[in-house]
Amino acid sequence: MFETAGKKTVIHNLTNYPRYMTIQIEGFSTDAIEADSFLPTEHGNFRIRAFESPDGKEHAILYTGDISDGDAPPLVRIHSECLTGDAFGSLKCDCGPQLEASMQRIQEEGKGAIVYLRQEGRGIGLYSKIQAYALQDQGHDTLDANLLLGLPADGRSYDVAAEMMKDMGLSKVRLMTNNPLKIKGLEEHGIEVQERLQHQSGVGPKNTHYLSTKRRRMGHLLEIE
Ligand SMILES: [Zn+2]
Repeated sequence: MFETAGKKTVIHNLTNYPRYMTIQIEGFSTDAIEADSFLPTEHGNFRIRAFESPDGKEHAILYTGDISDGDAPPLVRIHSECLTGDAFGSLKCDCGPQLEASMQRIQEEGKGAIVYLRQEGRGIGLYSKIQAYALQDQGHDTLDANLLLGLPADGRSYDVAAEMMKDMGLSKVRLMTNNPLKIKGLEEHGIEVQERLQHQSGVGPKNTHYLSTKRRRMGHLLEIE
């Protein structure tokens, strides 16, 4: 059943949720199976490992090669989920091309990891992100739209990412990022960022205003006007 609370459509009154039953097979313990598997992609072969944070959200690390600490810290990208950009190819932001470029760079180097965090819309969630897009349709920029909704310009945190990385044996990285907050966030949680690699792709006419707002008003290190 759908109900509109104010303008927000909320789905509720679902019964029998979850809809499946689990069956215990004798002599077989699911606890013994690591959520880590081979994942072939268009960009090459990776492995993927799944994690769950205390808030119940599920995150992933996509990786290849031996990424635990050795002489050369691996190439790492911290990517926050963006449904519109990652899955639908939205041109409003640069998330899709950034994700693909990082997969490509890691394959070229032969080792590295992408920490994929389920913090949609710079941490404000999908519903609020689309509300912010609606405000942007009226002429507000990406930062003002969030502030008008009473939300932070950037509500992301990197403690979960740092713990996931430590679990993989990572403590020193070369980070592909334009965002100084990511470096600060990781270092505050015990991950040393030995080098920052410029990571800019997917700049186009539909997102230059968005990217220039990130550069001018949010301190992102982008090489655009
Ligand atoms: Zn995006």
